[in-house]
Amino acid sequence: MAGLGCPDLEALRTHIGDCHRCPLGETRTRVVFGVGDPRARVMLIGEGPGKNEDLKGEPFVGAAGQLLNELLAHAGLERHEVYIANVVKCRPPGNRDPEPIEIETCTPFLREQIRLIAPDVLVTLGNFATKFVLKTEVGITRLHGKPQQAGRFTVLPIFHPAAAIYDRTKRDALFADFGRLRELLVAATLAPEPGDSGAASGDPLAPAPAATVPAAVESGATASASPDATPQPRLF
Ligand code: URA
Repeated sequence: MAGLGCPDLEALRTHIGDCHRCPLGETRTRVVFGVGDPRARVMLIGEGPGKNEDLKGEPFVGAAGQLLNELLAHAGLERHEVYIANVVKCRPPGNRDPEPIEIETCTPFLREQIRLIAPDVLVTLGNFATKFVLKTEVGITRLHGKPQQAGRFTVLPIFHPAAAIYDRTKRDALFADFGRLRELLVAATLAPEPGDSGAASGDPLAPAPAATVPAAVESGATASASPDATPQPRLF
């Protein structure tokens, strides 16, 4: 059975429980599991909960979350129509980057969320989530707004909304990138479904057959995250 084999997100949440599998369990207030439509076409992935998220138990509820809601509206989406999660589900103290052991412990949960939701597009929010998902050392400044293919997913790296709150340039880039997201969704909706190989069939984390690459991604708008321009064979 692929992944953790949970039948749905509720079962995964129960499986995670009051997690103390890594040191973050000792300092966090709540596990921030994720929020949104379990059948979303778009899944957004941040780094890890901050202070507000830790207190409320929901991702992106602070100022960055407010901006994220505006950005989603720019892409023609409402928050309840997407799914939002983080690489790690517990707040690292002082908002430091998660440690390797914390990421390793939490990764099966994110993988399982992606498997269960089987979105078309993964939007990585900021440098950390982008490097993690695409397994790349290429920074967000170069990658933002350029759709990448990773396994069967289109991955759209964007700046972290928190970085744009006081930076007008990044804010403009973010709105432009969410405009790109809107185009991707329209293109994927119009593209024929080859052999009806939809998200529900097979292992959604497995490599994509070439035919499932959305037209908008094939049209030259992409830049591979890997320095040798080889497509990523599999998601993290
Ligand atoms: N930043 C993140 O990366 N995730 C959140 O949930 C909140 C802020």
